[in-house]
Amino acid sequence: MSLDALLNLSHQLGREERRLAILGEGNTSMRHDAETFTVKASGSNLATLAVAGTATCHFSKLLPLLDAESMTDIAVDEALFAGRVSTEMKKPSVEAIFHAYLLTLPGVNYVGHTHPIAVNAILCSKHARTFAARRLFPDEIVCCGVESVFVPYTDPGLKLSQAIKSAVEDYIKRLSRPPRVILLENHGLIALGATPEAVLAATLMAVKAAEIFSTAAILSGGEPQFLTAAQVERIAGRPDEHYRQKALGL
Ligand SMILES: [Zn+2]
Repeated sequence: MSLDALLNLSHQLGREERRLAILGEGNTSMRHDAETFTVKASGSNLATLAVAGTATCHFSKLLPLLDAESMTDIAVDEALFAGRVSTEMKKPSVEAIFHAYLLTLPGVNYVGHTHPIAVNAILCSKHARTFAARRLFPDEIVCCGVESVFVPYTDPGLKLSQAIKSAVEDYIKRLSRPPRVILLENHGLIALGATPEAVLAATLMAVKAAEIFSTAAILSGGEPQFLTAAQVERIAGRPDEHYRQKALGL
């Protein structure tokens, strides 16, 4: 089982000049098969991530937490330790629970979560929801999807993972396609995709869109000039029917 693709994605997201994550910020994951996935361990650094800084976990041990009514921080920690395939491994990041969920979506094999400065500047402003809902230019649609999922501020950990699941389910019901980008108010960005390249592209394009959004808002003296819904759909093309059926459980 090679973790090279996960480590490389982590190093790309951790590059200092990209201003996506510093110190122990952010985390990444990769799906191996229906049973297991690997996620960054708690406290590891994306830029220098090595195999020793990761934890491989069982989906079956972590997914049930998403249905838990409420758990103490200690009980969540115990569940994270118990989720590992080997006790030699470090403790998975507390965000491993949402990674586990997102890696069960059709066509999702990699997830990257970062705290980009340009994106967080908007997510810490009154424009957060609009930035998630609207699109500014064609390549933003190609890499980040027709809309991003928006999750209002939620305490990181179990509650946040449950809020992400519920927001993603609403998105899929409404738009019949998987999200490429999830925006967490006052927190950060999650990109998901079939390949590490898709995750990196969605992250970097979201950062570019955030920079353009901020400058365009200033130039317009309020909101930027967005693409219309028809223009967005034209670029996105028709949703994949097979996925629609799968997502809706038909
Ligand atoms: Zn985070």
